[in-house]
Amino acid sequence: MQRLWLPILLVVVGIGLVLTFFQGAIAKRIMRAGLERAQAADSIAERPDGLHVVLCGAGGPLPDPVRSGPCVAVIAGQRVFLVDVGSGAARRLPRLGIQPGRVDGVFLTHFHSDHIDGLGGLGLQRWVGGTHKLPLPVYGAEGVSEVTGGLNQAYRLDAVYRTAHHGPEVVPPTGAGFHPVSFPEPAEGEGTVVLEDEGLRVTMFRVEHPPVVPAVGYRFDYRGRSVVVSGDTNQSTNLERFAEGVDLLVHEALSPELIAIVGEAAAANGLSAIEKIAGDVPTYHATPVQVAETAAAVGAGHLLYYHVVPPLPVPGLASVFLEGVPEAYDGPVTLGEDGTAISLPAGSDRILVE
Ligand SMILES: [Zn+2]
Ligand SMILES: [Zn+2]
Repeated sequence: MQRLWLPILLVVVGIGLVLTFFQGAIAKRIMRAGLERAQAADSIAERPDGLHVVLCGAGGPLPDPVRSGPCVAVIAGQRVFLVDVGSGAARRLPRLGIQPGRVDGVFLTHFHSDHIDGLGGLGLQRWVGGTHKLPLPVYGAEGVSEVTGGLNQAYRLDAVYRTAHHGPEVVPPTGAGFHPVSFPEPAEGEGTVVLEDEGLRVTMFRVEHPPVVPAVGYRFDYRGRSVVVSGDTNQSTNLERFAEGVDLLVHEALSPELIAIVGEAAAANGLSAIEKIAGDVPTYHATPVQVAETAAAVGAGHLLYYHVVPPLPVPGLASVFLEGVPEAYDGPVTLGEDGTAISLPAGSDRILVE
């Protein structure tokens, strides 16, 4: 037996020495292969024609390792649109096979910081990644031009440096920044078609997120398939109007039970501002059960939770978050994380969770 141990030990030590000696070379080879794969990744071309949703950010304003700030990528055919761009979302996109240079436009639901604090970085990555000659269109209700104007000002010097360094052929100066496309907030019961092109229709409708005005959601219709993205809202009868019969309802939710624990922890630490905020936020978000009731009321084919608040860092919290949901809605439910993807192939009624 002892005779066997010695050669095994020598082999293990030998492998260890070789790995240590060639560590750098091996790491560089892995890096090269990984980059080649990541840069070539194009999950858009690989999908069948249809409407597809990929969560580039499934979280809200609080830091969450598996949920970036709110961002919903909606792919219609070969075109890519984002609903809101929260913190971390733009950096998540390439890892989901969506190159920022491919983004055709952004729809903003409202101007809370967590919904726009990834937009500056996305604009830069989209510009340099796609050699765009026109700025990124940003659709929204009134107020959107104030946001894009501020970002254009903040990133103006950066754009000058990039063009000077890399040349106008690579980063054309006319393509930097954002172009606002602003609409009045639609009245209750009325929808505004903000984009109608190549078979895609995007309709803006009002939601309830007081005191935040304007606050809107969007309905996407493409080749017989449909998606509604709620933005931030209380349980909303107006959203129910526009989500009637929708294939996929992508809805925000906040768990009052779990946010109360955030408030209690803040109180225990004497953090009175955090305690106050934790007490305030349930007034302008929907609970998971209310969202399930909405999904049932409109007959949604599938319910996808995003803007999941608070973060769920402990195993078992997901089931607390979803308590009471199956009783309210008997359809399929997905609790979103970054990268959650749901496909609605055209010419079918299939709903595929990837
Ligand atoms: Zn929010
Ligand atoms: Zn909000």
